[in-house]
Amino acid sequence: MKLSRKEFLTLSGLAGTSLLLQGCDPLVRDVKNEQTTGPSITFKKIKLNLAHTWTISRGSADYKEDVIVEYCKDGITGIGEASHMTGAGQNADRTIEELKKLIPIYQEADPFEFYDLPGKANEVIPGVSPVKAAIDIALFDWIGKKLGIPIHRYLGLNPEKHVNTSFSIGYDKPEILKKKVREAEPYKILKVKLTNRNDEQIIKTIRSLTDKPVRVDINEGWTNKEEAIRKIEWLAGQGVNLVEQPMPVSMIEETKWLKERSTLPIIADEAVNTSKDIMSIAEAYDGINIKLMKSGGIMEAYRMAIIASAGKLDIMIGCMIASSVAITAAVQLQPLARWLDLDGSLLISNDPFRGALFNNGHWVMPEGPGIGVEKTSDNKNY
Ligand code: MG
Repeated sequence: MKLSRKEFLTLSGLAGTSLLLQGCDPLVRDVKNEQTTGPSITFKKIKLNLAHTWTISRGSADYKEDVIVEYCKDGITGIGEASHMTGAGQNADRTIEELKKLIPIYQEADPFEFYDLPGKANEVIPGVSPVKAAIDIALFDWIGKKLGIPIHRYLGLNPEKHVNTSFSIGYDKPEILKKKVREAEPYKILKVKLTNRNDEQIIKTIRSLTDKPVRVDINEGWTNKEEAIRKIEWLAGQGVNLVEQPMPVSMIEETKWLKERSTLPIIADEAVNTSKDIMSIAEAYDGINIKLMKSGGIMEAYRMAIIASAGKLDIMIGCMIASSVAITAAVQLQPLARWLDLDGSLLISNDPFRGALFNNGHWVMPEGPGIGVEKTSDNKNY
């Protein structure tokens, strides 16, 4: 289902009126509306075209649908995004249905009492859902704009602290892999998805084209620990410097065995969604991949970073394929990360937003208030 502007405004009537929406153009502060009570919470689907067909061990895609959420109050609009893992049953229609359940909670809440909101959202939508991230990011964007400061500043993070991000190359035929490696020229670290089918051939193809450091993501694809450690040793000799989620989440004892022997850091991704998952997996991994779409947004991601440090785990900040809204929201947390894997907006060809700028292998923290994103002026996709 693709919504027209008119349909969008009609659906917006769930939470507010088109008149209020007009008064809530991004970055426009309407003093007359300062006393407005509850927020208007609106949404729209967007279609993001992928620069390349994307293949991992779970399937392939040419485009994806995300949902943009706007939180509008006092003449200020905060913007957020839900980006879906279709392999996990997530999609835009489901996100919209779930959003309708969350709207009453966020309409009643004082936006500055955000600490408890993820817990309240979990009562209505249990488990992992990107809808919680979308509304949380929109709320944080609104708070930053209301206060006139960027989110990294609100969280006490140093914007100058950055690390190079990896750029992902999906599994493909050798000739397509060669093309992708050439196109990845601006990026200093490559991330390669291995599928357990022809891992050595993929790495050898990449090594024949570039000597850049490589990270590998197995997406739970290895199931034999002895074979896994042999592969890791071979990969270490090929300039690979990090292994993400090598074994299934359930094989925690085997992963701990692997970590004790591995010369490369082992990072948890599928094994950790929110802060409550961290301590039980801490002994099996060297780090955790925090993603806003798994955590349910900025508040919980920040909480995860604090708990990870207690478990002596380093932090990777990762993402789904998404527009600059979700990616720039994650860039706001960049100073927390030892490793960065924020390439989602670099993998699409029609980003309707402009946020953090990518320069010389890393993201430059935006200076604008909130998450620091605006719609592009020639926007045809939003
Ligand atoms: Mg991963």
